[in-house]
Amino acid sequence: RTIGQALDRAVAEWGDQIALISPTQGVRWTWRVLEARADALAAGLLALGLRPGDRIGIWSLNRAEWALTQFAAAKAGLILVTINPAYRLFELEFALNKVGCAALVTATAFKTSEYIDMVRALAPELAGAAPGGLAAARLPDLRTVIQIGGPPVPGAIAFEAVEGLGGEAERAELAAIAGRLQFDDAANIQFTSGTTGSPKGVTLTHHNILNNGYFVGRAMRLTAADRICIPVPLYHCFGMVMGNLAAVTHGCAMVYPGEGFDPLATLETIEAERCTALYGVPTMFIAELDHPEFARFDLKSLRTGIMAGAPCPIEVMRRVAERMHMGEVTIAYGMTETSPVSFQSAVDDPLARRVSTVGRIHPHTEVKIVDETGRVVPRGERGELCTRGYSVMLGYWDEAEKTAQVLDAAGWMHTGDLATLDEDGYCNIVGRIKDMVIRGGENLYPREIEEFLFRHPKIQEVQAFGVADAKYGEELCVWIRLRDGEAMAEDEVRAFCQGQIAHQKIPRYIEFVNDFPMTVTGKAQKFKMREVVEERLG
Ligand code: ATP
Ligand code: MG
Repeated sequence: RTIGQALDRAVAEWGDQIALISPTQGVRWTWRVLEARADALAAGLLALGLRPGDRIGIWSLNRAEWALTQFAAAKAGLILVTINPAYRLFELEFALNKVGCAALVTATAFKTSEYIDMVRALAPELAGAAPGGLAAARLPDLRTVIQIGGPPVPGAIAFEAVEGLGGEAERAELAAIAGRLQFDDAANIQFTSGTTGSPKGVTLTHHNILNNGYFVGRAMRLTAADRICIPVPLYHCFGMVMGNLAAVTHGCAMVYPGEGFDPLATLETIEAERCTALYGVPTMFIAELDHPEFARFDLKSLRTGIMAGAPCPIEVMRRVAERMHMGEVTIAYGMTETSPVSFQSAVDDPLARRVSTVGRIHPHTEVKIVDETGRVVPRGERGELCTRGYSVMLGYWDEAEKTAQVLDAAGWMHTGDLATLDEDGYCNIVGRIKDMVIRGGENLYPREIEEFLFRHPKIQEVQAFGVADAKYGEELCVWIRLRDGEAMAEDEVRAFCQGQIAHQKIPRYIEFVNDFPMTVTGKAQKFKMREVVEERLG
């Protein structure tokens, strides 16, 4: 099944039920309305000259138009390239050129009103101002910019105008595309977070992401009676797959509490719209629970949801289950390359297990944990997590070599994450292999050292990583950020470790910093820290 067919089915089964609520925009669309608008947009995109297989970028915060674009692109056979709205010129240019986007949907007049200005800086011919024509542009493939809202900008076309462009010919073409499109055609390119290097463009098919959305929803027992509150970004698979595609396959409503994350708006929306499920990364749940007005809200409609994307603290899971009434909350583990989810706890797993592991492998996927030689390790032992099945990407866009490094001939995706599996198949994520430090032949796990140092009351944040060393191969280095107003000396850190952790785990280099290099998705980039220190050490 394709995403377009899933939408057809949603209309057939739940046509007059609410599909999408965006309170700040005054949007309440049924599945029938959503599909009618998506079809009109799809026909308009064809009228603009876009053809199946072309890449169309979307660079916008969460809005109803985001979902329209997602479904319209799928119906027209276009490949939707989801671009982080936090990206600025350099990153945008990289992303658009990497995959050759022919069109870009973007928004003005919201939090970041400079969007169109940035596109014009990169593609001046769109405003008719490029003396050298297309060849002079930094975005040679970009032909069309579609603007959501805001005053019209020269060179861009208004989103609503595109919905009116398609005629009989385009409608007929859409029907033909629906007949031709295969479920294993590419539907989406998403960029990885860039935690370990440059972001990679991951090509995913209709089959990959539609099924992942379905199984994510099934793990929470979603039905057409559910309403999912989606404060997580749509540009990321958390929003567009685990949110929108779980909704279309189970007939639930997608509820967008606002453009960017705001804990108060999220709480208000849950109460006003009687949401039954809530998504978030751990820090979002913490911000909601700790909000001074938290107690004022009636959240009893909530039942389930997902916490994912980073290690989920046990204490936070417990508070979510009790204080937010989400007794059926789940944890998920995944990566962009696997659509994304491969592990998720089930609503009937005991809470103790649901808070301490990432659950068991998803249906129709396989898991193995291997050592450096590729042999499966005994249960309970650490190794590289590998997964296989319908959810594995087609590959990195236009990067056959990089694809071959992670995807083997037998179809196994080598995740680059270290994990253990217990006797019952519950998985624990230990850390990333790339982050593992090998000092004098011994493996050191940064996460273990970070968790230990994190217990010190003066330490706010800590990152551990390896730096090259002539004698030991690698030495351990930590960057520490102290709490406001605190002071600490290196020796104090060493004394804290002494007798508590093995001597080889006590960092050789200890540095105090104010900031860490971060990805736009908020993950610390250790490869950059390593570069800085190694350069200084010579
Ligand atoms: P890049 O591949 O560009 O270096 P990235 O791996 O951070 O960046 P994503 O695909 O967004 O890009 O993130 C996937 C990674 O996030 C996983 O490989 C894993 O390391 C981490 N992760 C995801 N969910 C969890 C979780 N529940 N617990 C711990 N780690 C998680
Ligand atoms: Mg990765």
